[in-house]
Amino acid sequence: MNDLDPTLQCVFQTVLDRNPGEAEFHQAVREVLESLNVVVARHPEYVEGSIIERLCEPERQLMFRVPWTDDQGNIHINRGFRVEFNSALGPFKGGLRFHPTVNLGIVKFLGFEQIFKNALTGLPIGGGKGGSDFDPKGRSDAEVMRFCQSLMTELYRHIGEYTDVPAGDIGVGGREIGYLFGQYKRITNRYESGVLTGKGLSYGGSQVRTEATGYGTVIFAREMLATRNLELSGRRVIVSGSGNVAIYAAQKAQQLGAQVVACSDSGGYVVDEDGIDVDLLRQVKEVDRGRLTDYAAQRPRATHHTEGNVWQVPAEIALPCATQNELDGDAAKALVANGVIAVAEGANMPCTPDAVSILTENDVLFAPGKAANAGGVATSALEMQQNASRDSWHFDHTEQRLDQIMVDVHKRCAEAADTYGQPGNYVAGANISSFMQVADAMLAHGVI
Ligand code: GLU
Repeated sequence: MNDLDPTLQCVFQTVLDRNPGEAEFHQAVREVLESLNVVVARHPEYVEGSIIERLCEPERQLMFRVPWTDDQGNIHINRGFRVEFNSALGPFKGGLRFHPTVNLGIVKFLGFEQIFKNALTGLPIGGGKGGSDFDPKGRSDAEVMRFCQSLMTELYRHIGEYTDVPAGDIGVGGREIGYLFGQYKRITNRYESGVLTGKGLSYGGSQVRTEATGYGTVIFAREMLATRNLELSGRRVIVSGSGNVAIYAAQKAQQLGAQVVACSDSGGYVVDEDGIDVDLLRQVKEVDRGRLTDYAAQRPRATHHTEGNVWQVPAEIALPCATQNELDGDAAKALVANGVIAVAEGANMPCTPDAVSILTENDVLFAPGKAANAGGVATSALEMQQNASRDSWHFDHTEQRLDQIMVDVHKRCAEAADTYGQPGNYVAGANISSFMQVADAMLAHGVI
C-alpha cells in the first residue's frame, strides 16, 4: 500500500468511519485515492471544492424489501439495492447484480468503480449500481420472473431514461432484463426503451451488447500489448469464470489468433489443450445453465480440476472475468513464475491490491477493470443512443464503434499516466483521467 497525501488520508479516514464493515468499498476508494496524490498536488481547486469527499458519498442510496413466492408457495424475502453514486456526467448508469453475496458494501464498491469506468468511455453516463442478495441458481423461470417483477415494483419509481438506467451484471442477463422491462412497462404505462440496457434484440436491445464486455477486455489487452510491439496471435490465454464476460473474452481472443486453454466456475476449472470450444461452453452455461463438468464430459482431451485454481495453468495472458478479489498474491506469483506478460481484468476488481503490486513490480502489463471492462457499459450507452433515435445499428457498425471506444479508453489511460509521470501504469492513468473529467463537471455544477 502506498501512503496518501494528508488531505487524502483525511478523506479516506472519513470513508472508513462513515461506512464501517464495507471492506470492498474501502478497497476501491483506497486504490483511487492512491492514484490522486499527484493530482491534488497540481490541482488545489479539487481540494478547495471538496470534490473527493463529495465523490465518496453517493448522491442517493436505496434499500428495499423484495418479497416473492416460490413454485411451492413459500414466501421469500430478499433485499433490493440501488446506489445512485454520481450523476455529474449523465444519468446514473450501471448494472444490477443478483447473487447471495450482494450487500450494501458490495453495491457501493461497484457503484464507485462505475463512476470512473463510465467516465473513461467518453460517453455521457454517470455511475450507479444495484442488485439483490437473491440467488437465481436452481430457480425456475417462473420464480425468476416473480422475483424480477417484485423488485421492479419498487425500483420503477427511482429509474428512468434521464434519471437512472440499470442493466445486467452477475446473475442478471437477457432473461432477467426482459422480465424487469415488462414489469416497468406495465406499471408506468410507458414504452420507455432507454430505461434499461441489455435488452433483447426483439425489443430495443443493441447488437454486440452481449459480447461487448468480453470483446472490449481483449481489445484493451491488444492495445496494451501493442505498446511493447507484441501481439495476441499465437499466445496462450487463460480466462477465469465462464459467464457472459468470460465466454466472449475467449471468443474475441480466439478471433485474434490466441489459444484459450482454460476457464473456471465456482466448482473448479477446465483445461482444454485443443482450445476452449466457445459454442459448447455457451450451450452448457447459457442455454442449459449447467456446470463445467458437463463441458469436460463432452470434450475428450479436456480435464476438470477441483484442487487449486485456474491461475496455476501456464499462460502468457490472464483474463480474470469472474468476480472481485478472485486473484490474490499467491495467484499473481504463480502467474509470474509461469511467464505471464499481460493481465486484463474483465471482472470488477478481481485482483487484490497484493496481486496488482506483484504483477506491476514484475513488469507485467496490467489493465484495471474500470478500463479493461468498460466495453460493456459503453455498448449500453450505444444502446441508449439507438433507443433515443428509435434506430438500430448493424453488428459490424456497432462492433467498430466498440473497438474505437476501447482504443480511446486505452489512449486516455496511457496519456494520463504519461502526463503524471507514471508511464505504463494503467491503474494510475485510468483513475487520474476519469477523476479529472468527473471533477471538472462537478466543479462546473456548483455545490450540489
Ligand atoms: N455491469 C456492467 C459493468 O460492470 C455493465 C453495466 C451497464 O451496462 O450499465 O460495467
